[in-house]
Amino acid sequence: MRKQIVAGNWKMNNDDAESKLLVKQIKKSIKRLPLRGTRVLVAPTFVNLKTVVKKSKKSKIEVVAQNMHQETNGAFTGEVSAKMLKSIGVETVLIGHSERRTLFGETNAVLASKVDAAIANKMELIFCFGEQLEDRKSGKHFDVVKQQLQEGLFHLESASWNQIVLAYEPVWAIGTGETASPEQAQEMHAFVRNLLEETYTTALAQNTSILYGGSVKPSNAKEIFSKEDVDGGLIGGAALQAQDFTAIIKAIL
Ligand code: 13P
Repeated sequence: MRKQIVAGNWKMNNDDAESKLLVKQIKKSIKRLPLRGTRVLVAPTFVNLKTVVKKSKKSKIEVVAQNMHQETNGAFTGEVSAKMLKSIGVETVLIGHSERRTLFGETNAVLASKVDAAIANKMELIFCFGEQLEDRKSGKHFDVVKQQLQEGLFHLESASWNQIVLAYEPVWAIGTGETASPEQAQEMHAFVRNLLEETYTTALAQNTSILYGGSVKPSNAKEIFSKEDVDGGLIGGAALQAQDFTAIIKAIL
Protein backbone atom coordinates (compact mmCIF):
# COMPACT_ATOMS: atom_id res chain seq x y z
CA MET A 1 0.00 0.00 0.00
CA ARG A 2 1.04 3.57 -0.57
CA LYS A 3 2.85 5.44 2.17
CA GLN A 4 2.13 8.78 3.77
CA ILE A 5 4.95 11.26 3.26
CA VAL A 6 5.69 14.74 4.54
CA ALA A 7 8.61 16.31 2.69
CA GLY A 8 10.24 19.67 3.34
CA ASN A 9 11.74 21.39 0.31
CA TRP A 10 14.17 23.92 1.70
CA LYS A 11 14.79 25.43 -1.76
CA MET A 12 17.70 27.94 -1.76
CA ASN A 13 17.52 28.54 1.99
CA ASN A 14 19.71 27.70 5.01
CA ASP A 15 23.48 27.93 5.12
CA ASP A 16 25.62 25.29 6.79
CA ALA A 17 24.91 26.33 10.40
CA GLU A 18 21.20 26.89 9.74
CA SER A 19 20.86 23.50 8.05
CA LYS A 20 22.52 21.75 11.00
CA LEU A 21 20.27 23.54 13.46
CA LEU A 22 17.06 22.85 11.56
CA VAL A 23 17.74 19.16 11.10
CA LYS A 24 18.67 18.86 14.77
CA GLN A 25 15.42 20.53 15.81
CA ILE A 26 13.30 18.37 13.50
CA LYS A 27 15.07 15.23 14.71
CA LYS A 28 14.28 16.13 18.29
CA SER A 29 10.69 17.12 17.69
CA ILE A 30 9.72 14.00 15.73
CA LYS A 31 11.56 11.57 17.98
CA ARG A 32 8.52 10.69 20.04
CA LEU A 33 5.89 11.02 17.35
CA PRO A 34 4.02 7.84 16.49
CA LEU A 35 4.97 7.95 12.82
CA ARG A 36 3.91 4.34 12.13
CA GLY A 37 5.37 4.25 8.64
CA THR A 38 4.75 7.89 7.74
CA ARG A 39 7.94 9.11 6.09
CA VAL A 40 9.61 12.42 6.93
CA LEU A 41 11.87 13.87 4.23
CA VAL A 42 13.97 17.03 3.98
CA ALA A 43 15.57 18.46 0.85
CA PRO A 44 18.48 20.82 1.60
CA THR A 45 20.66 22.52 -1.04
CA PHE A 46 23.42 20.45 -2.67
CA VAL A 47 26.15 21.98 -0.50
CA ASN A 48 24.35 21.01 2.69
CA LEU A 49 23.31 17.50 1.72
CA LYS A 50 26.30 15.73 3.23
CA THR A 51 25.99 17.53 6.54
CA VAL A 52 22.26 16.88 6.77
CA VAL A 53 22.77 13.20 5.89
CA LYS A 54 25.29 12.98 8.72
CA LYS A 55 23.13 14.88 11.20
CA SER A 56 20.03 12.85 10.43
CA LYS A 57 21.72 9.49 11.03
CA LYS A 58 19.91 7.43 13.68
CA SER A 59 16.74 9.42 13.08
CA LYS A 60 13.64 8.92 10.99
CA ILE A 61 14.55 11.78 8.68
CA GLU A 62 15.38 10.91 5.08
CA VAL A 63 17.43 13.31 2.97
CA VAL A 64 16.44 14.27 -0.56
CA ALA A 65 18.20 16.24 -3.31
CA GLN A 66 16.29 19.08 -4.97
CA ASN A 67 17.52 18.29 -8.47
CA MET A 68 20.15 16.33 -10.41
CA HIS A 69 21.60 16.12 -13.90
CA GLN A 70 20.74 13.26 -16.21
CA GLU A 71 24.34 12.41 -17.17
CA THR A 72 26.72 10.49 -14.92
CA ASN A 73 29.68 12.85 -15.32
CA GLY A 74 31.40 15.08 -17.85
CA ALA A 75 31.53 18.68 -18.98
CA PHE A 76 28.37 19.95 -17.31
CA THR A 77 29.59 22.84 -15.17
CA GLY A 78 27.56 23.39 -12.05
CA GLU A 79 25.69 20.09 -12.20
CA VAL A 80 25.47 17.03 -9.94
CA SER A 81 24.71 13.44 -10.96
CA ALA A 82 22.72 10.60 -9.44
CA LYS A 83 25.91 8.67 -8.83
CA MET A 84 27.34 11.56 -6.81
CA LEU A 85 24.20 11.87 -4.73
CA LYS A 86 24.18 8.16 -4.01
CA SER A 87 27.84 8.25 -3.03
CA ILE A 88 26.95 10.47 -0.05
CA GLY A 89 23.89 8.45 0.96
CA VAL A 90 21.13 10.38 -0.82
CA GLU A 91 18.64 7.94 -2.27
CA THR A 92 15.77 10.25 -3.30
CA VAL A 93 15.60 13.25 -5.64
CA LEU A 94 13.00 15.84 -6.61
CA ILE A 95 12.50 16.02 -10.35
CA GLY A 96 10.53 18.64 -12.25
CA HIS A 97 9.82 21.12 -9.50
CA SER A 98 7.93 24.06 -11.03
CA GLU A 99 10.85 26.38 -10.25
CA ARG A 100 13.12 24.11 -12.28
CA ARG A 101 10.60 24.09 -15.10
CA THR A 102 9.88 27.81 -15.18
CA LEU A 103 13.10 29.47 -13.98
CA PHE A 104 15.61 26.99 -15.41
CA GLY A 105 13.84 25.91 -18.57
CA GLU A 106 13.48 22.21 -17.80
CA THR A 107 11.12 20.75 -20.39
CA ASN A 108 9.12 17.56 -20.17
CA ALA A 109 11.71 15.93 -22.47
CA VAL A 110 14.62 16.92 -20.22
CA LEU A 111 12.68 15.71 -17.20
CA ALA A 112 12.02 12.36 -18.86
CA SER A 113 15.77 11.85 -19.21
CA LYS A 114 16.32 12.83 -15.56
CA VAL A 115 13.64 10.33 -14.59
CA ASP A 116 15.46 7.63 -16.58
CA ALA A 117 18.75 8.49 -14.91
CA ALA A 118 17.20 8.28 -11.45
CA ILE A 119 15.57 4.94 -12.24
CA ALA A 120 18.76 3.52 -13.77
CA ASN A 121 20.67 4.55 -10.65
CA LYS A 122 18.07 2.90 -8.43
CA MET A 123 17.06 6.18 -6.83
CA GLU A 124 13.59 7.07 -5.69
CA LEU A 125 12.22 10.18 -7.37
CA ILE A 126 9.54 12.64 -6.42
CA PHE A 127 8.10 13.84 -9.71
CA CYS A 128 6.55 17.31 -9.43
CA PHE A 129 3.92 18.63 -11.79
CA GLY A 130 1.15 21.21 -11.77
CA GLU A 131 -0.57 23.84 -13.84
CA GLN A 132 -0.04 27.60 -14.06
CA LEU A 133 -2.76 30.04 -13.07
CA GLU A 134 -3.69 30.73 -16.73
CA ASP A 135 -4.17 27.00 -17.31
CA ARG A 136 -6.62 26.78 -14.45
CA LYS A 137 -8.45 29.94 -15.45
CA SER A 138 -8.91 28.61 -18.97
CA GLY A 139 -9.97 25.19 -17.70
CA LYS A 140 -6.89 23.45 -19.15
CA HIS A 141 -5.44 22.24 -15.85
CA PHE A 142 -6.30 18.58 -16.35
CA ASP A 143 -4.85 18.59 -19.89
CA VAL A 144 -1.63 20.28 -18.75
CA VAL A 145 -1.12 17.82 -15.91
CA LYS A 146 -1.89 14.87 -18.18
CA GLN A 147 0.69 16.07 -20.68
CA GLN A 148 3.35 16.61 -18.00
CA LEU A 149 2.83 13.05 -16.75
CA GLN A 150 2.60 11.49 -20.19
CA GLU A 151 5.75 13.18 -21.48
CA GLY A 152 7.78 12.96 -18.29
CA LEU A 153 6.85 9.63 -16.78
CA PHE A 154 4.52 7.38 -18.70
CA HIS A 155 7.29 5.91 -20.84
CA LEU A 156 8.29 3.94 -17.74
CA GLU A 157 7.42 0.31 -17.30
CA SER A 158 5.23 -0.65 -14.34
CA ALA A 159 8.19 -2.25 -12.59
CA SER A 160 9.89 1.14 -12.15
CA TRP A 161 6.94 2.69 -10.37
CA ASN A 162 8.00 1.44 -6.94
CA GLN A 163 10.68 4.17 -7.26
CA ILE A 164 8.17 6.95 -7.97
CA VAL A 165 6.33 9.40 -5.74
CA LEU A 166 4.14 12.06 -7.35
CA ALA A 167 3.75 15.64 -6.12
CA TYR A 168 0.99 17.85 -7.44
CA GLU A 169 1.98 21.48 -7.00
CA PRO A 170 -0.32 23.98 -8.69
CA VAL A 171 2.07 26.81 -9.57
CA TRP A 172 -0.41 29.51 -8.53
CA ALA A 173 -0.39 28.12 -4.98
CA ILE A 174 3.39 27.98 -4.49
CA GLY A 175 4.76 30.59 -2.12
CA THR A 176 1.71 32.76 -2.72
CA GLY A 177 -0.18 32.00 0.47
CA GLU A 178 -2.98 30.82 -1.76
CA THR A 179 -3.71 27.12 -1.30
CA ALA A 180 -5.72 24.93 -3.59
CA SER A 181 -8.85 24.11 -1.64
CA PRO A 182 -8.88 20.58 -0.25
CA GLU A 183 -11.57 19.82 -2.84
CA GLN A 184 -9.43 21.15 -5.71
CA ALA A 185 -6.48 19.08 -4.48
CA GLN A 186 -8.62 15.96 -4.14
CA GLU A 187 -10.13 16.49 -7.59
CA MET A 188 -6.70 16.62 -9.24
CA HIS A 189 -5.28 13.75 -7.19
CA ALA A 190 -8.24 11.56 -8.11
CA PHE A 191 -7.78 12.55 -11.77
CA VAL A 192 -4.11 11.53 -11.61
CA ARG A 193 -4.86 8.25 -9.86
CA ASN A 194 -7.45 7.49 -12.49
CA LEU A 195 -4.90 8.26 -15.20
CA LEU A 196 -2.48 5.81 -13.58
CA GLU A 197 -5.19 3.19 -13.54
CA GLU A 198 -5.98 3.72 -17.23
CA THR A 199 -2.32 3.78 -18.25
CA TYR A 200 -1.09 1.01 -15.97
CA THR A 201 -3.13 -0.99 -13.45
CA THR A 202 -5.44 -0.45 -10.49
CA ALA A 203 -2.82 -1.89 -8.18
CA LEU A 204 -0.16 0.52 -9.42
CA ALA A 205 -2.55 3.47 -9.05
CA GLN A 206 -3.42 2.41 -5.52
CA ASN A 207 0.20 1.92 -4.53
CA THR A 208 1.53 5.28 -5.76
CA SER A 209 1.76 8.09 -3.20
CA ILE A 210 0.53 11.46 -4.47
CA LEU A 211 1.62 14.48 -2.40
CA TYR A 212 0.13 17.95 -2.50
CA GLY A 213 2.32 21.06 -2.42
CA GLY A 214 1.51 24.77 -2.39
CA SER A 215 1.20 26.94 0.73
CA VAL A 216 0.60 24.02 3.10
CA LYS A 217 0.69 25.36 6.67
CA PRO A 218 -0.12 24.01 10.13
CA SER A 219 -3.53 25.68 9.84
CA ASN A 220 -4.63 23.95 6.62
CA ALA A 221 -2.63 20.72 6.60
CA LYS A 222 -5.14 18.51 8.40
CA GLU A 223 -7.98 19.29 6.04
CA ILE A 224 -5.85 18.77 2.93
CA PHE A 225 -4.38 15.50 4.26
CA SER A 226 -7.84 14.22 5.16
CA LYS A 227 -8.71 13.89 1.48
CA GLU A 228 -8.81 10.35 0.19
CA ASP A 229 -6.25 10.69 -2.60
CA VAL A 230 -3.85 13.05 -0.83
CA ASP A 231 -1.04 10.97 0.67
CA GLY A 232 0.98 13.79 2.17
CA GLY A 233 2.64 17.07 1.35
CA LEU A 234 5.63 18.74 -0.23
CA ILE A 235 6.18 21.76 1.95
CA GLY A 236 8.18 24.89 1.10
CA GLY A 237 8.05 27.93 3.38
CA ALA A 238 6.54 26.15 6.37
CA ALA A 239 9.30 23.51 6.28
CA LEU A 240 11.89 26.10 7.29
CA GLN A 241 10.66 26.25 10.90
CA ALA A 242 10.89 23.01 12.89
CA GLN A 243 7.78 23.87 14.84
CA ASP A 244 5.60 24.43 11.77
CA PHE A 245 7.03 21.43 9.94
CA THR A 246 6.39 19.22 12.96
CA ALA A 247 2.83 20.53 13.27
CA ILE A 248 2.28 19.59 9.61
CA ILE A 249 3.65 16.09 10.24
CA LYS A 250 1.33 15.75 13.23
CA ALA A 251 -1.58 16.72 10.99
CA ILE A 252 -1.20 13.55 8.96
CA LEU A 253 -0.79 11.12 11.88
P1 13P B 1 5.31 26.69 -0.40
O1 13P B 1 4.88 25.68 0.64
O2 13P B 1 6.25 27.73 0.11
O3 13P B 1 4.13 27.25 -1.14
O4 13P B 1 6.17 25.87 -1.49
C1 13P B 1 5.66 24.71 -2.03
C2 13P B 1 6.73 24.05 -2.82
O5 13P B 1 7.10 24.51 -3.88
C3 13P B 1 7.35 22.84 -2.27
O6 13P B 1 8.16 22.21 -3.21
